Amino acid sequence: MKIDLRKLAHSDTLPFSGTIDLSGEELYGAKPFQSPVVFSGEVTSHLDALRLTGEVKTTYHTCCARCLKPLEIPLSAEVDVVLSRNPSAEEEDDVFIVEGTEFEVEDVLVPALILQVDMIYLCREDCKGLCPSCGCDLNESVCSCGSKQVDPRMAVLAKLLEGNEGRQD
Ligand SMILES: [Zn+2]
Ligand SMILES: [Zn+2]
Repeated sequence: MKIDLRKLAHSDTLPFSGTIDLSGEELYGAKPFQSPVVFSGEVTSHLDALRLTGEVKTTYHTCCARCLKPLEIPLSAEVDVVLSRNPSAEEEDDVFIVEGTEFEVEDVLVPALILQVDMIYLCREDCKGLCPSCGCDLNESVCSCGSKQVDPRMAVLAKLLEGNEGRQD
């Protein structure tokens, strides 16, 4: 959504709102933005300074990092930046450089939203995860693999050795 700053010639406040489709965006090997991204806010002009404030939110679709259960995480970001036409201000925090008289509001909001994403999510803090041997969900069932959790490559070796023992008998 383009914001045309020339409109601020007629009023001190320029409200905006809309949705962003990020369903094709990849993050950490998945496409987690399957829900619409909703935003609203305003650009205000005060004593020659332009300021953008607003909120952007969505539901983030991911999986528990341990048991792979699908999760829907409410995600939101508050944005409060100064809009500057001075390119050297870019190094400063909370400054967004505007070239010309208009800019895409997505360029301000989307990075702020993505900053709120954690690398991993868990369905609960003490999620027991999946059994590395049989793959069952250890939150829901107890498998016979028990504490004897073996590396899948070692499991192949163990099977071979078992076979040999069988022959010896
Ligand atoms: Zn889990
Ligand atoms: Zn198991």
